[in-house]
Amino acid sequence: MRKLSIFGATGSIGQNTIDLIRRAPDAYDVVALSGGTNIAQLSKNAIELNAKIAVTAFPDQLDALRDALAGTGIEAAAGEAALVEAASRPADWVMSAIVGAAGLKPGLAALEQGATLALANKESLVCAGKLLMETAQRNAATVLPVDSEHSAIFQGLVGEDMEAVERIIITASGGAFRDWPLDQLAAATVEQASSHPNWNMGQRITIDSASMFNKALEVIETREFFGVRPEQIEVIVHPESLIHSIVGFRDGAMMAHLGAPDMRHAIGYALHWPQRQDLPVERLDLAKVASLTFKAPEAARYPALALAYEVMERGGLMGAVFNAAKERALDHFIAKKLGFLDMSHVVAAVMERMDGESGLIDAPMTLDNVLRIDHLARRAVDDLAPERIG
Ligand code: NDP
Ligand code: MG
Repeated sequence: MRKLSIFGATGSIGQNTIDLIRRAPDAYDVVALSGGTNIAQLSKNAIELNAKIAVTAFPDQLDALRDALAGTGIEAAAGEAALVEAASRPADWVMSAIVGAAGLKPGLAALEQGATLALANKESLVCAGKLLMETAQRNAATVLPVDSEHSAIFQGLVGEDMEAVERIIITASGGAFRDWPLDQLAAATVEQASSHPNWNMGQRITIDSASMFNKALEVIETREFFGVRPEQIEVIVHPESLIHSIVGFRDGAMMAHLGAPDMRHAIGYALHWPQRQDLPVERLDLAKVASLTFKAPEAARYPALALAYEVMERGGLMGAVFNAAKERALDHFIAKKLGFLDMSHVVAAVMERMDGESGLIDAPMTLDNVLRIDHLARRAVDDLAPERIG
């Protein structure tokens, strides 16, 4: 039996992972499941999958978790240190599906114990890619992509020489506002931004799809995962979301990965890698699909995208600034204190301000430095735009 843990088990990726696991319960020995405030879901899944430990990220939820697990023999724990302790427990395969930079420490802990890390938590690669990859290497651990685009690229590269890769083309649905008149974007509401045309995902990544902050993170994720140069990474809007990404080679050939927009595809690939197993995903009927369309992303619609290239050009700890400023700006947008387009203005201003502070961005990429930068960038978002943030 494979020992497995799922961090962010109660979220969209976590639940899709559990959907696959519960189809073959005898194949897996579940070590740890983690969640946040959804204690009913966390305890239900922990009991169903007979996990050894269930952890909520939030200490004020511990009593509720203990009550829900009373008499089951399943350990209950709470808080960041408990997440890290649970991630340090030996497991063959660990799903990293916490949302935000909060996924970094548990991800590092899982790699330190040599687990294969299925990485949905792109934020940890954006804020600390080098640290994550070096930790994996030092511990002979493997990191597998779960983001659909990166899974597609990874699959397109099987058996290929990286030297032969000319370009990587990441597809983007264009999000909720892809067809909106540009002059209405500034007034877009949280409710309008929270509905995705093709994918069913957590609220934060859905809003990040509308602003393309998600694609910006994915551009950086591509660089960290595959080691390509920024100028080799392109983004194309593909409204049908059936091509998940494309690798272009030096002979002009392009390998595209197609499939229904269902995250169980990428999760299942990471779960069974290096094999392929049957997955309960819809099969595409290309005659019904009939056509696939593409268009270049408009800079005015998606200002976040250009910021990703600035982050890569600057290097150092700028990824940690970018991710944290984005997370904090998104908090304020969700709280209806910041406008939709203000998010990218505020993030750009924080990047510029922190770049001006001597030595900050060029400090070595240690966990402490990443966490310090993360904290400073969030605070800078709060200070920077009092006229915008009510
Ligand atoms: P959700 O919001 O649906 O789930 C997030 C999970 O993290 C939940 O289990 C939540 O607990 C938990 N959580 C929330 N805050 C914290 C915290 N501070 N510390 C620890 N745990 C916390 O997100 P998604 O499943 O959509 O996304 C998860 C990750 O996967 C993100 O990094 C996202 O970018 C990435 N991803 C998601 C895709 C998708 O299709 N959804 C596609 C590609 C990547 P609770 O709900 O109990 O409060
Ligand atoms: Mg993606």
